[in-house]
Amino acid sequence: METAIISGKGGTGKSSVAAAFATLAKEVVVADCDVDAANLYILFQPKNPDFQAFTGSREAVVDVVVCDGCGLCVEYCRFDALSMANGHVTVSGVFCDGCGLCARVCPHNAIVMKENKESVLCSADFRYGQLVYGRLAPGEENSGKLVSLVRERARQNARDRKINTVIIDGPPGIGCPVIASITGVDQVVIVTEPSMSGMLDLKRIWSLCKSFGLPTWVLINKYDLHSAQSEEIETFCTVNGIRFAGKLSFDSIIVDAMVHCKTVAEWVPGADIVTEIKTAYNKIFQRGR
Ligand code: SF4
Ligand code: SF4
Repeated sequence: METAIISGKGGTGKSSVAAAFATLAKEVVVADCDVDAANLYILFQPKNPDFQAFTGSREAVVDVVVCDGCGLCVEYCRFDALSMANGHVTVSGVFCDGCGLCARVCPHNAIVMKENKESVLCSADFRYGQLVYGRLAPGEENSGKLVSLVRERARQNARDRKINTVIIDGPPGIGCPVIASITGVDQVVIVTEPSMSGMLDLKRIWSLCKSFGLPTWVLINKYDLHSAQSEEIETFCTVNGIRFAGKLSFDSIIVDAMVHCKTVAEWVPGADIVTEIKTAYNKIFQRGR
């Protein structure tokens, strides 16, 4: 069973919840699909990593010996990635979109497209099973494609090791990488927080899940920071028939646990917050079966 943990915005505590769920699952494949800012590998410190290069984008490279400085490529580039100074063309890697038009129009074939291979897909052992994650190099694109590869590898590992539970830690927001993280999963858990922006983002991400017809849970994190707003979220779930997984209190031991590379369920197993997480976990994973 694949369960995606997502949030409409960053900073809701989604990854802490996903990590605690992985601890409670005991035998699990975790797919960290937040490829722009993967962090579960820091927490879980996996062993025996198997790295695979991921080609996320291409970039134009000019052969200065062949180039005669005609300026045609600069004229054609719609991304302002090329500039001419003293008869030499310079490429800005930040602006280059990798479209390849400059290479096609260059009369002297002085431009080649180079593949960026700094992004990686990694699969490794960790204390509860397998961790699969992707790390997109700064400025590289195609995060949705990398997310899909992470999920594919996670599924494969789960099949090979006969592990039934796959937990996906999705990226924040509602964009392409989020869509790639939730497509075809068995259920989604939206982690939200009691604030105005939390409510707005919850509505947006829930609409997305609804449009995909996915069984969806809502879990409120740090609910006691704004009880009135939490009640509003609960009411929203009731009115819209959304499964309500529960409410987690604010507790600074979550941060302490992270600092010590532990999940909160490992750090203080008897804490109230861990009991709350267990209650939510039992609801989500038992009903989901
Ligand atoms: S590949 Fe496209 S974006 Fe990049 S420099 Fe060439 S024309 Fe511009
Ligand atoms: S089109 Fe080719 S030859 Fe002309 S400036 Fe660009 S790289 Fe140089």
